[in-house]
Amino acid sequence: MEQRNLTDTECTLYGTKSCALLNMPDCEKCPLKGRVADPAIHDDLKLFCDLQPEGTVAKLFESETCTLCKGEPKGKPASYAVFDMAHTEPKQLAKRRWLSKQVTGFMVPLQFACCKKCRKRILLSAYLPLIAPIVLTVCVLPFVMNEHLAQGLRKVAGWFPFALVVLAIAGGYGIGKLLSYLYKRKADAVMYIDVRTHPIVAEMTEKGWRPLFNDRQPHLAFTKHRIDKGLGSANSSVYAMPDVGAEEETPAAAEENTAEEKISD
Ligand SMILES: [Zn+2]
Repeated sequence: MEQRNLTDTECTLYGTKSCALLNMPDCEKCPLKGRVADPAIHDDLKLFCDLQPEGTVAKLFESETCTLCKGEPKGKPASYAVFDMAHTEPKQLAKRRWLSKQVTGFMVPLQFACCKKCRKRILLSAYLPLIAPIVLTVCVLPFVMNEHLAQGLRKVAGWFPFALVVLAIAGGYGIGKLLSYLYKRKADAVMYIDVRTHPIVAEMTEKGWRPLFNDRQPHLAFTKHRIDKGLGSANSSVYAMPDVGAEEETPAAAEENTAEEKISD
Protein backbone atom coordinates (compact mmCIF):
# COMPACT_ATOMS: atom_id res chain seq x y z
CA MET A 1 0.00 0.00 0.00
CA GLU A 2 1.17 3.54 -0.68
CA GLN A 3 2.35 5.47 2.35
CA ARG A 4 -0.44 7.40 4.09
CA ASN A 5 0.35 11.10 4.12
CA LEU A 6 -1.84 12.60 6.83
CA THR A 7 -1.05 16.26 7.20
CA ASP A 8 -4.17 17.70 8.85
CA THR A 9 -3.20 17.23 12.49
CA GLU A 10 -6.04 19.60 13.51
CA CYS A 11 -8.65 17.17 12.17
CA THR A 12 -10.82 15.60 14.87
CA LEU A 13 -10.31 12.22 13.22
CA TYR A 14 -6.51 12.52 13.19
CA GLY A 15 -4.83 9.51 14.80
CA THR A 16 -8.14 7.81 15.64
CA LYS A 17 -9.51 4.41 14.73
CA SER A 18 -12.09 6.20 12.54
CA CYS A 19 -9.31 7.70 10.40
CA ALA A 20 -7.55 4.33 10.17
CA LEU A 21 -10.82 2.66 9.10
CA LEU A 22 -11.37 5.21 6.32
CA ASN A 23 -7.82 4.33 5.20
CA MET A 24 -7.31 7.23 2.82
CA PRO A 25 -3.82 7.95 1.44
CA ASP A 26 -4.03 11.66 2.29
CA CYS A 27 -6.32 14.16 4.02
CA GLU A 28 -7.21 15.92 0.75
CA LYS A 29 -8.89 12.75 -0.56
CA CYS A 30 -10.82 12.04 2.68
CA PRO A 31 -14.53 11.51 1.85
CA LEU A 32 -15.44 13.12 5.18
CA LYS A 33 -13.53 16.33 4.51
CA GLY A 34 -15.77 19.12 5.81
CA ARG A 35 -17.88 16.72 7.90
CA VAL A 36 -15.27 15.68 10.46
CA ALA A 37 -16.77 17.79 13.27
CA ASP A 38 -19.90 15.60 13.24
CA PRO A 39 -19.59 13.32 16.32
CA ALA A 40 -21.99 10.82 14.68
CA ILE A 41 -19.11 9.80 12.38
CA HIS A 42 -17.48 7.77 15.15
CA ASP A 43 -20.79 6.04 15.95
CA ASP A 44 -21.31 5.25 12.26
CA LEU A 45 -17.85 3.75 11.98
CA LYS A 46 -18.32 1.78 15.20
CA LEU A 47 -21.52 0.39 13.69
CA PHE A 48 -19.52 -0.53 10.57
CA CYS A 49 -17.16 -2.56 12.82
CA ASP A 50 -20.11 -4.20 14.61
CA LEU A 51 -21.52 -5.30 11.25
CA GLN A 52 -18.27 -7.06 10.30
CA PRO A 53 -18.16 -10.83 9.96
CA GLU A 54 -15.91 -12.72 12.36
CA GLY A 55 -12.29 -11.83 11.59
CA THR A 56 -13.54 -8.85 9.48
CA VAL A 57 -13.54 -8.53 5.68
CA ALA A 58 -9.74 -8.00 5.86
CA LYS A 59 -9.46 -11.77 6.45
CA LEU A 60 -10.34 -12.27 2.76
CA PHE A 61 -7.44 -10.26 1.32
CA GLU A 62 -4.94 -10.99 4.09
CA SER A 63 -5.23 -14.74 3.59
CA GLU A 64 -2.05 -16.49 2.47
CA THR A 65 -4.07 -19.22 0.75
CA CYS A 66 -6.93 -19.00 -1.76
CA THR A 67 -10.16 -18.03 0.01
CA LEU A 68 -12.35 -19.54 -2.72
CA CYS A 69 -10.84 -23.06 -2.69
CA LYS A 70 -12.83 -25.63 -0.70
CA GLY A 71 -10.96 -28.38 1.14
CA GLU A 72 -7.20 -28.88 1.19
CA PRO A 73 -4.71 -28.08 -0.13
CA LYS A 74 -5.80 -24.56 -1.03
CA GLY A 75 -4.15 -22.75 -3.95
CA LYS A 76 -1.71 -19.88 -3.72
CA PRO A 77 -3.38 -16.46 -4.27
CA ALA A 78 -2.48 -14.89 -7.63
CA SER A 79 -5.12 -12.11 -7.76
CA TYR A 80 -8.18 -10.76 -5.98
CA ALA A 81 -11.78 -11.51 -6.97
CA VAL A 82 -13.83 -8.46 -6.02
CA PHE A 83 -17.47 -7.52 -5.65
CA ASP A 84 -19.28 -4.94 -3.52
CA MET A 85 -21.72 -5.54 -0.72
CA ALA A 86 -24.07 -2.88 0.63
CA HIS A 87 -25.98 -2.33 3.87
CA THR A 88 -29.03 -0.19 4.60
CA GLU A 89 -27.28 1.16 7.73
CA PRO A 90 -26.50 3.85 8.74
CA LYS A 91 -30.04 5.06 8.06
CA GLN A 92 -29.12 8.77 8.07
CA LEU A 93 -26.60 8.23 5.26
CA ALA A 94 -28.60 5.67 3.28
CA LYS A 95 -29.71 6.70 -0.18
CA ARG A 96 -31.32 5.08 -3.18
CA ARG A 97 -28.78 4.31 -5.85
CA TRP A 98 -29.21 5.29 -9.46
CA LEU A 99 -31.44 2.83 -11.39
CA SER A 100 -31.75 0.65 -8.31
CA LYS A 101 -34.45 -0.06 -5.74
CA GLN A 102 -31.72 -0.81 -3.21
CA VAL A 103 -31.21 1.71 -0.42
CA THR A 104 -27.54 1.83 0.45
CA GLY A 105 -25.69 3.14 3.47
CA PHE A 106 -22.38 1.36 3.94
CA MET A 107 -20.62 -0.18 0.98
CA VAL A 108 -17.72 -2.55 1.27
CA PRO A 109 -15.59 -4.27 -1.38
CA LEU A 110 -15.08 -7.98 -0.69
CA GLN A 111 -11.64 -8.91 -1.98
CA PHE A 112 -11.15 -12.65 -2.12
CA ALA A 113 -7.53 -13.79 -2.36
CA CYS A 114 -7.92 -16.11 -5.36
CA CYS A 115 -5.69 -18.78 -6.93
CA LYS A 116 -5.17 -19.19 -10.70
CA LYS A 117 -7.40 -22.28 -10.92
CA CYS A 118 -10.37 -20.64 -9.17
CA ARG A 119 -10.02 -17.56 -11.38
CA LYS A 120 -10.02 -19.75 -14.50
CA ARG A 121 -13.15 -21.60 -13.34
CA ILE A 122 -15.02 -18.34 -12.57
CA LEU A 123 -14.09 -16.79 -15.93
CA LEU A 124 -14.98 -19.93 -17.89
CA SER A 125 -18.41 -20.21 -16.23
CA ALA A 126 -19.04 -16.51 -16.93
CA TYR A 127 -17.92 -16.61 -20.57
CA LEU A 128 -19.46 -19.92 -21.68
CA PRO A 129 -22.78 -18.24 -22.68
CA LEU A 130 -20.72 -15.89 -24.90
CA ILE A 131 -18.25 -18.44 -26.28
CA ALA A 132 -20.86 -21.03 -27.31
CA PRO A 133 -22.84 -18.78 -29.74
CA ILE A 134 -19.57 -17.58 -31.34
CA VAL A 135 -18.35 -21.15 -31.89
CA LEU A 136 -21.71 -22.28 -33.26
CA THR A 137 -21.98 -19.25 -35.58
CA VAL A 138 -18.46 -19.85 -36.90
CA CYS A 139 -19.49 -23.45 -37.65
CA VAL A 140 -22.64 -22.35 -39.53
CA LEU A 141 -21.06 -19.49 -41.52
CA PRO A 142 -19.20 -21.66 -44.12
CA PHE A 143 -22.56 -23.18 -45.19
CA VAL A 144 -24.19 -19.77 -45.53
CA MET A 145 -21.20 -18.07 -47.18
CA ASN A 146 -20.50 -20.80 -49.73
CA GLU A 147 -22.57 -19.85 -52.77
CA HIS A 148 -23.19 -23.44 -53.86
CA LEU A 149 -24.35 -24.54 -50.40
CA ALA A 150 -26.29 -21.31 -49.83
CA GLN A 151 -28.21 -21.89 -53.03
CA GLY A 152 -29.27 -25.29 -51.73
CA LEU A 153 -30.37 -23.70 -48.43
CA ARG A 154 -32.34 -20.99 -50.26
CA LYS A 155 -34.29 -23.70 -52.04
CA VAL A 156 -35.88 -24.51 -48.64
CA ALA A 157 -36.83 -20.83 -48.24
CA GLY A 158 -35.23 -17.51 -49.19
CA TRP A 159 -34.75 -16.55 -45.55
CA PHE A 160 -33.42 -19.94 -44.47
CA PRO A 161 -29.63 -19.08 -44.45
CA PHE A 162 -30.35 -15.97 -42.37
CA ALA A 163 -32.57 -17.96 -39.98
CA LEU A 164 -29.79 -20.51 -39.62
CA VAL A 165 -27.36 -17.81 -38.38
CA VAL A 166 -29.95 -16.42 -35.94
CA LEU A 167 -30.63 -19.93 -34.70
CA ALA A 168 -26.90 -20.53 -34.19
CA ILE A 169 -26.61 -17.36 -32.06
CA ALA A 170 -29.74 -17.98 -29.99
CA GLY A 171 -29.18 -21.73 -29.70
CA GLY A 172 -25.51 -21.17 -28.86
CA TYR A 173 -26.48 -18.83 -26.04
CA GLY A 174 -28.91 -21.41 -24.63
CA ILE A 175 -26.33 -24.18 -24.91
CA GLY A 176 -23.71 -21.90 -23.31
CA LYS A 177 -26.02 -21.16 -20.37
CA LEU A 178 -26.68 -24.86 -19.87
CA LEU A 179 -22.97 -25.74 -20.09
CA SER A 180 -22.17 -22.93 -17.64
CA TYR A 181 -24.77 -24.26 -15.20
CA LEU A 182 -23.41 -27.81 -15.43
CA TYR A 183 -19.82 -26.59 -15.14
CA LYS A 184 -20.65 -24.54 -12.03
CA ARG A 185 -22.31 -27.55 -10.42
CA LYS A 186 -19.12 -29.55 -11.00
CA ALA A 187 -16.79 -26.75 -9.84
CA ASP A 188 -18.87 -26.21 -6.70
CA ALA A 189 -17.33 -29.40 -5.26
CA VAL A 190 -13.86 -27.81 -5.14
CA MET A 191 -14.53 -24.08 -4.77
CA TYR A 192 -17.08 -21.40 -3.82
CA ILE A 193 -17.99 -20.64 -7.43
CA ASP A 194 -21.21 -18.98 -6.23
CA VAL A 195 -19.70 -16.56 -3.71
CA ARG A 196 -23.07 -16.17 -1.98
CA THR A 197 -22.42 -19.59 -0.43
CA HIS A 198 -19.04 -18.50 0.99
CA PRO A 199 -19.16 -18.62 4.84
CA ILE A 200 -18.13 -14.95 5.16
CA VAL A 201 -20.74 -13.78 2.63
CA ALA A 202 -23.38 -15.95 4.31
CA GLU A 203 -22.48 -14.45 7.70
CA MET A 204 -22.64 -10.92 6.27
CA THR A 205 -26.00 -11.67 4.62
CA GLU A 206 -27.33 -12.63 8.06
CA LYS A 207 -26.10 -9.27 9.35
CA GLY A 208 -28.10 -7.44 6.68
CA TRP A 209 -25.50 -7.02 3.91
CA ARG A 210 -26.57 -7.62 0.28
CA PRO A 211 -24.57 -7.77 -2.94
CA LEU A 212 -24.71 -4.29 -4.45
CA PHE A 213 -27.49 -3.89 -7.07
CA ASN A 214 -29.02 -7.38 -6.87
CA ASP A 215 -29.39 -10.66 -5.08
CA ARG A 216 -28.36 -12.69 -8.11
CA GLN A 217 -24.95 -14.29 -8.30
CA PRO A 218 -22.56 -11.32 -8.09
CA HIS A 219 -20.30 -10.60 -11.03
CA LEU A 220 -16.69 -10.82 -9.87
CA ALA A 221 -14.00 -8.50 -11.18
CA PHE A 222 -10.35 -9.52 -10.94
CA THR A 223 -7.48 -7.32 -9.91
CA LYS A 224 -3.77 -8.01 -9.44
CA HIS A 225 -3.42 -5.41 -6.70
CA ARG A 226 -5.98 -5.10 -3.99
CA ILE A 227 -8.04 -1.97 -3.31
CA ASP A 228 -6.08 -0.28 -0.56
CA LYS A 229 -8.10 2.84 0.20
CA GLY A 230 -11.57 3.49 1.52
CA LEU A 231 -13.88 1.79 3.98
CA GLY A 232 -13.31 -1.96 4.16
CA SER A 233 -9.75 -1.81 2.83
CA ALA A 234 -7.99 -1.43 6.20
CA ASN A 235 -5.98 -4.30 7.65
CA SER A 236 -7.53 -6.45 10.39
CA SER A 237 -5.25 -4.86 13.03
CA VAL A 238 -7.16 -1.56 12.58
CA TYR A 239 -10.42 -3.14 13.77
CA ALA A 240 -8.65 -4.14 17.00
CA MET A 241 -7.78 -0.49 17.80
CA PRO A 242 -9.67 1.06 20.73
CA ASP A 243 -12.90 2.82 19.76
CA VAL A 244 -12.95 6.61 19.73
CA GLY A 245 -13.81 7.74 23.26
CA ALA A 246 -12.61 4.46 24.73
CA GLU A 247 -8.93 5.24 24.22
CA GLU A 248 -9.13 8.09 26.70
CA GLU A 249 -9.56 5.49 29.41
CA THR A 250 -5.92 4.63 30.10
CA PRO A 251 -5.17 1.79 32.57
CA ALA A 252 -4.47 4.45 35.24
CA ALA A 253 -7.79 6.19 34.58
CA ALA A 254 -9.63 2.87 34.68
CA GLU A 255 -8.05 2.14 38.08
CA GLU A 256 -9.11 5.57 39.31
CA ASN A 257 -12.69 4.95 38.12
CA THR A 258 -12.81 1.62 39.93
CA ALA A 259 -11.51 3.29 43.12
CA GLU A 260 -14.19 5.97 42.81
CA GLU A 261 -16.86 3.32 42.35
CA LYS A 262 -15.66 1.57 45.51
CA ILE A 263 -15.82 4.83 47.50
CA SER A 264 -19.39 5.51 46.29
CA ASP A 265 -20.36 1.95 47.42
ZN1 LIG B 1 -8.60 -21.39 -5.31
